[in-house]
Order: sequence, then structure tokens, then C-alpha cells
Amino acid sequence: MAASGKVAFRLPPLPTIREIIKLFNLRAQKQLSQNFLLDLRLTDKIVRQAGKLKDTHVCEVGPGPGGITRSILNADVAQLLLVEKDTRFIPGLKMLSEAAPGKVHVVHGDILTYKLERAFPKHLEMKWEDDPPNVHIIGNLPFNVSTPLIIRWLENVSKRDGPFVYGRTQMTLTFQKEVAERLTATTGSKQRSRLSIMSQYLCTVQNCFTIPGRAFVPKPEVDVSVVHFTPLVQPKIRQPFKLVEKVVKSVFQFRRKYCCRGVEILFPEAERLEKCEQMMMLADVDPTLRPAQLSILHFKNLCDVYRKMCDEDPSLFTYNYREELKQKKTSKRTFRALGKE
Ligand code: SAM
Repeated sequence: MAASGKVAFRLPPLPTIREIIKLFNLRAQKQLSQNFLLDLRLTDKIVRQAGKLKDTHVCEVGPGPGGITRSILNADVAQLLLVEKDTRFIPGLKMLSEAAPGKVHVVHGDILTYKLERAFPKHLEMKWEDDPPNVHIIGNLPFNVSTPLIIRWLENVSKRDGPFVYGRTQMTLTFQKEVAERLTATTGSKQRSRLSIMSQYLCTVQNCFTIPGRAFVPKPEVDVSVVHFTPLVQPKIRQPFKLVEKVVKSVFQFRRKYCCRGVEILFPEAERLEKCEQMMMLADVDPTLRPAQLSILHFKNLCDVYRKMCDEDPSLFTYNYREELKQKKTSKRTFRALGKE
């Protein structure tokens, strides 16, 4: 019995996930990177990382045969939205939905295009500065979906749109172990990368625990980690996402070189060295540090100075080093071909 006197929700006895897989002939499709979790103690552990879910509204992305789904429902949520791309799973999920009347909404759709900003009632919206809203995202998606998706959701965090129209919506997601290590890597560590800066300037990111590959059916080639994200009230860098992304990407372009090598490519060749020196000096960043040694504060300073330089010369932001290289190669080839004629 819950403290309020209300009986806590428990799912009625159901066929096991293994039986559901057999019943609906849900063989995992390797080419779609489908790996299922059948151990409900493990799915309970994943769901516990999301925090207290009682009476919250949850979106589960990629529920598949529904292992994590059961654990979410057993956490006594108010509403559970399931977004699953593969039609084969829909009948099994509908069966789960019947076992929890009025709580589950099954959507056959793609989370990359689904409009989460319209999924939950408006009254759940909280001010950004307030506590996180009663809205959570949980999911074990294929890795080729989860990594681009987190970049997109981080951009949504920076703009406070998409799933973040409700406020600082928390996310509990699985990633390949190495990606989780990059997402949470600290200054100076081997795994420090573009993903570390992009996630940590916007969110508190916690690498919760690792699930060995053997816990999945079929067993993937890699281990999997559960990562929890809570958007920060104040992002650590207050510049547009695309600008931060450009600076961070350039700096990590040459991981093993001094960080100034990456900063140089933000500028056209003619003024490269002079502008790079100016940027490093104004940002007060030692140009001989390696990219992995830069803290978020270093990146903040670099982004702030780059922003000022772009404001003074608006063509700077559109400058693209890769494009310049490509054009140079093409004109060299044309020149050589003309020489042969
Ligand atoms: N969550 C289940 C579990 O842990 O057993 C299934 C995990 S399986 C790795 C990934 C699931 O995500 C599959 O059911 C797959 O069909 C689904 N999926 C893949 N891409 C998706 C997308 N873009 N939108 C929604 N679901 C997707």
C-alpha cells in the first residue's frame, strides 16, 4: 500500500519476455542491431537510474519486446508512451498496454521524427530554473540511433525545444560502453572528446553502470552502459549550439597535436596564424595544451572570443576549412589536366 493509501500499481502475471518473443515470433534482426534485455532484475536496475518515477510521464524509445517497459510500469508511472519503429513489436506492446489500462500509449513510429514536444499534457511544463518536470525519457536503442539522437537532443536542450519544452526533462539511455565513457570523460582523460564537451556543457551526465554484452539476446559485440542526463539550469557555455559545435569539432580535429592546430582551421588561410594567436591570447588558453587537456571553461573562453570575432566579421562563421581543402584539390586537378592538354 502506498503512503497515500492508494494501492501501488503492479502488472498482473504475464507471459515472460522470452515467451512473448516466441509467441509473436520476434527474432532480433541483426542488421537492425536489435539486442534484447530479458532479465527483469537488470531492466529494473536501468529504470531505477531514472530516479523516482511514481506518477511521472515517461517516454520509452525503442521498447522492442518490452522488458524495460515492464519495469517502467512497475515503477507506478502515470503515463507511458512507447515509440517503436518495428511493426513486429506492436502486438506484444498492445498486450502490455491492456495489462495496464489507461496508462500506456503505443506509437508505431520513428523517434528521429516523432514530435515529443506534443506528446505530453501542457500542464506538466515547468520553468527551466525549476526542478525537472515529471517527464522522463528512457531507452535502449541501437547505437547507430542513440549517438546521433543524443546530439540532436543536446541541441534541443540548448534551445529548450523538442522534449525540453516541458523543462529540464531527464533522460536515461544506453550507449556502447566506449561512447558512454566519452560522454562522461573528465578533463585530461584518454576518452575526452567532442561528445564530452557537447554533453557536459549542457547537462549533468552520469555514467551509471555497465551491462556486459552477454546479458543481451543476441549478445552484441560490445558492452553497454547506462547514462543519465539532467539538463543544467545554466549551460556552462552561453553561445549558440552550432557555434560551440564548430569550435569543439575544430579543436578535436587534431587530437594528438597542440590545441592551437585545431583553432587555426577556424580561419581562412590568409589570416590563419595571426587570428589563431589572437584568439588563444584573448581566451587565455595555453596553445600548447592538447585538446583533451582543455576544460569546459577553456572551451567557454574560446567560444566567447570566437563569437566576438564572428560578430566583427560575419563571413567568418560560414568559413569551412574542409570546403577550402576540397576546392584546392579540385583546382589542382583541373590545373594538372589543363597542363596535359
Ligand atoms: N528496449 C528493448 C530491450 O532493451 O530489450 C529493445 C532494444 S533493441 C537494442 C532497440 C529497439 O529500438 C528495437 O525494438 C528497435 O526496433 C527499436 N528502434 C530502432 N530504431 C528506432 C527508431 N528510430 N525509433 C523507434 N524505435 C527504434
